[in-house]
Amino acid sequence: CGITGYIGYRDAYPIIINGLQRLEYRGYDSAGLVLYDGTQINLAKTKGKVSDLVEKVSKKEGNLGIGHTRWATHGIPNDVNSHPHTSQSGNLVIVHNGIIENYDTIKKELINRGYTFQSDTDTEVLVNLIEEVQKNNDVKLGKAVQIALNEVVGAYAIAVFDKRKPNEIVVARLGSPIAIGVGKDKKEFFIASDASPFIEYTKDAIYLDDEEMAIIRVGKDVKIRKINDDSLVDANIQELQMNLEQ
Ligand code: GLU
Repeated sequence: CGITGYIGYRDAYPIIINGLQRLEYRGYDSAGLVLYDGTQINLAKTKGKVSDLVEKVSKKEGNLGIGHTRWATHGIPNDVNSHPHTSQSGNLVIVHNGIIENYDTIKKELINRGYTFQSDTDTEVLVNLIEEVQKNNDVKLGKAVQIALNEVVGAYAIAVFDKRKPNEIVVARLGSPIAIGVGKDKKEFFIASDASPFIEYTKDAIYLDDEEMAIIRVGKDVKIRKINDDSLVDANIQELQMNLEQ
């Protein structure tokens, strides 16, 4: 029931793993991560503990990474149902905490359009819905995520990237927390369910509110908008206090 992410210039792997360990208190049945070095996507996931995940990771390269601990709601706890989930083309990778309530209707529609599914999760439905939106509209990733989220009913914190856009991660929140750590000179960004995974790297944090999404790009200001309409929201950067440290 936790998300960690990193995009910047450091090795993402230790940041993701340490972050997942700090989020273990939230409870979970499976863990997984994806690392991207701009060429190759390396994904590892497993039923069990973060320590079991560590055993499974063979390639640790990449300055972009996303990690997840799962509390299964749709599909039993097993390796395949663990996150991250990849879209059919292999371009999009997502992690998700929460529930997509109308996943069954959307899944049937996607199957009619030729999609096949590896897992029993609602999350794999969402990542393929984003892909289908991208196929049908000439829009950027953030817009595709927004259109897709307006078709789903449920609760979520998500982090998603597109391998064709290695400098960008999109996150969104409705009912599950997401914090963004802003690194010095915007050269790096951290994502987590709470600020504990990144407090030693930066004290500057943005907490998304419900119904908000953020487009995080290396070197740029974090762009926050409402999911339901197109209004932009000012990024409210808060200073973390040391006593948040565990
Ligand atoms: N509904 C998703 C699943 O069952 C996410 C569960 C979670 O919050 O970890 O895979």
